[in-house]
Amino acid sequence: MEIQGIGIGQGVAVGRILRMPDPQPEPADRLSLRQPAEESVRAAQALSAVAAELGVRGQAAGGAAQDVLEAQAMMAEDPALVADITARLSRGKTAERATFEAFAAFRDTLHGLGGYMAERAADLDDLSQRVIAHLAGAAPSGVPESREPFILVARDLAPADTVLLNLDLVLGLITSSGGPTSHTAILAREKSLVAIVGAAGATSLVDGDEVILDAARSVVVTTPSDEAKSAALTRIAERAARAAAPVGPGLLSDGTHIPLLANLGNADGAAKAAALGAEGVGLFRTEFLFLDATSAPSVGAQQVEYERMLREFAGKKVVVRALDAGADKPLAFLNDADEENPALGMRGLRSLRAAEGILRDQLTALANADAATDADLWVMAPMVATVEETRYFVDLAHSLGLKTAGIMVEIPAVALLADRVLACADFASIGTNDLTQYTLAADRMLGSVASYQDPWHPAVLRLVGATGAAGAALGKPIGVCGEAAADPLLAVVLVGLGATSLSMSASALADVRSSLAGYSLEQARQLAAIALAADGAASARAATAAAASTF
Ligand code: PEP
Ligand code: MG
Repeated sequence: MEIQGIGIGQGVAVGRILRMPDPQPEPADRLSLRQPAEESVRAAQALSAVAAELGVRGQAAGGAAQDVLEAQAMMAEDPALVADITARLSRGKTAERATFEAFAAFRDTLHGLGGYMAERAADLDDLSQRVIAHLAGAAPSGVPESREPFILVARDLAPADTVLLNLDLVLGLITSSGGPTSHTAILAREKSLVAIVGAAGATSLVDGDEVILDAARSVVVTTPSDEAKSAALTRIAERAARAAAPVGPGLLSDGTHIPLLANLGNADGAAKAAALGAEGVGLFRTEFLFLDATSAPSVGAQQVEYERMLREFAGKKVVVRALDAGADKPLAFLNDADEENPALGMRGLRSLRAAEGILRDQLTALANADAATDADLWVMAPMVATVEETRYFVDLAHSLGLKTAGIMVEIPAVALLADRVLACADFASIGTNDLTQYTLAADRMLGSVASYQDPWHPAVLRLVGATGAAGAALGKPIGVCGEAAADPLLAVVLVGLGATSLSMSASALADVRSSLAGYSLEQARQLAAIALAADGAASARAATAAAASTF
């Protein structure tokens, strides 16, 4: 039997599963037999014990994990939350029930905010569980102990669990909830963990079941045959060999150079990306500087961060994206309007233009950082819909001293007018995540329409092809920086459609490098034509794979 989910990366794992223990049941809503003051002491002790435990685990983990765990520990002692628990206790509730209700209310508020904030809601569920387990004197549900390697199955993972995974023992991860942009998926990509998220059918798996976790095909194969297992083990060995191969530039078999670049969310990942062979940065997402802030950081503070990253890539190309706030990345100081369809609202360049001071400051900080370092800095604007917006951004960036300015192709309108857009931009970079969302009219954050979020769809590929053709005609570089570039076979098709560079999570570089080496530019074009001729995403993928296997 096969269980469908959303594969993260290209890995394969074979092993027996262990489930994360089920969460504590919801505490009964009954009046406490204790006095409110006594319950209040119990709740306070449990909250501070959980905060202290997270702090200790954070210190043991160090690095980024420590930041995640300390942020969670702070949430446990948030004054607004404690006040809410106290108010509920004064109405006679038990500490367990009051904690449960207060965390649930806090979580619903975050959910209501949508996007990035909603993704943090899982952290609150985890905290609530830990506090209730502490009150019950039970062990918190967490990663099971094992001496043998195993595939972990969980509803979802909280940051506290993910950062402490022992990657020598955890062969892979299957979650029954969560989507491709959830915290778990992001961490799985970062740690190169073989993972499938959103596999609702995984709830039927029991401890000890043997499975093949095939992230490349987005399926979990249960009770696999011996043939299927040995084929999977061969793929695992081949992938390990690719990862161990010496890193070098992205080259097609005929020697055509397709630079392979890294997508980075902050400067911390730069050294690892360079070690994995990134020839530069194709997408530096700058949101991290803004998302937790209550006002925009100063030019000086931004400049420090940009310089830190540019120094890691001296002499290499680094494409920085201007702040892309709104929709899945809400930012109150830029846009606090209550929008019914935020993905179609004031996001990306639209909101930056409405607060031009913030855009000018960011471009000034980038120009200063460029002047102080030796990288080849390019800047681009997200969510551009018109030729006029392109001209606005490119002219502003040039006037502030930035040499190379372009736009992201994320909205079908600019792909359809790529010739006119590229006439006034230095380059374009195709964001296939948003381009797919807008072409298929399917919210990329919504699990119920996740199956539409497939960049193999020929309509998306046709838009990529139109952009590639315009780039070739005008001699302008066309990058691809959405998740599509990390799919080894699709990467070949994208090159065949005219992409001149590909940018992806650093963990995908080895697979894509190896795949490109298997095809000439002419063959990539033939595969692109086959994918374009299909009726839908699945048939495009299947027809291309069948043709590729004959080359
Ligand atoms: C994209 O939309 O493809 C992209 C790279 O940007 P983000 O995923 O950050 O929206
Ligand atoms: Mg985007």
